[in-house]
Amino acid sequence: MPPAPADPNENELREALITTALETNRRSLNQGTSGNVSVRLGDGMLITPSGVPYEALRPEDLVFVDADGRWEASRRPSSEWHFHRAILQERPELAAVIHVHSVYASVVAIQGRDIPALHYMVAAAGGNSIRCAPYATFGTEELSRHALEALRGRTACLLANHGMIAAGANLERALWLAEEVELLARQYVLSLQIGGPRLLDDAEMERVLEKFRDYGPRERS
Ligand SMILES: [Zn+2]
Repeated sequence: MPPAPADPNENELREALITTALETNRRSLNQGTSGNVSVRLGDGMLITPSGVPYEALRPEDLVFVDADGRWEASRRPSSEWHFHRAILQERPELAAVIHVHSVYASVVAIQGRDIPALHYMVAAAGGNSIRCAPYATFGTEELSRHALEALRGRTACLLANHGMIAAGANLERALWLAEEVELLARQYVLSLQIGGPRLLDDAEMERVLEKFRDYGPRERS
């Protein structure tokens, strides 16, 4: 198995990946060992290992998976490495992927529902909804295909009866989006309890998407 290619930023990326993983715990997006985080490195990616709590992670524990899906024999990447690799390969504009079983996103995904345009921030994921990918067994290529399809033109999706994926041009951006998606899911669940959301129409979502393209959602008011 080839080692990770020499990259001057590799050590920084390893540290940043661990910081991001720990943040998913601190922000109540992740619990236990259910989530996983990856970041692009050369032709492959660094990903959190299988079964190691984030609090125990050392930089050397992160697994390099190459473009062909191979890794060093002594390591075991997260069981969800398929969709991390597929997203990073198919979406060159993205460099970081976060997967969590956060409570509200999972609750909506358990219903198999998309998050509709209940708030203009839905556009932060790139469209007028956040799609829910059909169910497939965790860790399978089938789940990976479903996720890629649900992410078409978007940077986040739900996974039916499972959780969510948020991606970004860097780790910070993916983490920010994961937290936004969880908040939107929470708003959706709560709004359903008081009669259901009044949705924004497609024309308004188009306007918001245009503004986000111009200014970036970080400069939202
Ligand atoms: Zn999962």
